[in-house]
Amino acid sequence: MQFPVIGIPCYSTERGDNQRPIYANNQTYAQAIIHAGGAPVLIPPGSPDMLAAIYARLDGLLLSGGGDVNPAFYGEDPIPACQPPEQERDEAELALTRAALADGLPILGICRGHQLLNIALGGSLYQDIPTQWQGKFLRHDCAGEVRDHIAHSIQIAPGSQLASILGTTETGVNSFHHQALKALGAGLRTVATSEDGVIEGIELPDRPFVLAVQYHPEAMEATDPISRRLFAAFVRACAAHAEQRAIAAPRPNKPIATVQ
Ligand code: MN
Repeated sequence: MQFPVIGIPCYSTERGDNQRPIYANNQTYAQAIIHAGGAPVLIPPGSPDMLAAIYARLDGLLLSGGGDVNPAFYGEDPIPACQPPEQERDEAELALTRAALADGLPILGICRGHQLLNIALGGSLYQDIPTQWQGKFLRHDCAGEVRDHIAHSIQIAPGSQLASILGTTETGVNSFHHQALKALGAGLRTVATSEDGVIEGIELPDRPFVLAVQYHPEAMEATDPISRRLFAAFVRACAAHAEQRAIAAPRPNKPIATVQ
């Protein structure tokens, strides 16, 4: 299967020049999928029925970075350091994630997406590392640094899917987050941590591909072959899922001519 279709939920914001409302996400997520041979589709928030119509056509789901998930979804009140909620986005992403988990659709979570996957499975977060972390912690919130700035290293569990994909048990990563995983969601396994104990990678064992990382491989893949391997493996898993489904219900792929 060529070009598996991979959904990337986006968010509401406004244009810098005229403040008109737009749906958006960083280009690097879509580019990383394209570089790996996938076809990204940006998904706006909306009603469950509308989302279901898009979801039915997806071969994989990429949960991107972004603002803080509303702590109400893990049964907590927000502390002052927690960012204001984006209710529509939270609801859309949680609905898509739960559907994908139920169907075995491949999921790659990144930063907020890593946290959202944990919440979708019943886990919780530290709402703010500087406020709530017990003990010493590294500098994880590197706002102001270039996006491929190596902030700290991560240790990856030998024998994990992540270690097998990346081909290493240690690598340097960027870091743009002020929250971290606290209680793990049902069935999840911690597969990467930083030196201070912050969870930097999780996966759902016995699934073809339900994996998430706290760092931003999409901002490193242009120059870092190790980050590229993660997107290559994800797109391969999406292609394999699409192949299996195509056997049950074929969907024709009509060519589109190049515009000269
Ligand atoms: Mn970090």
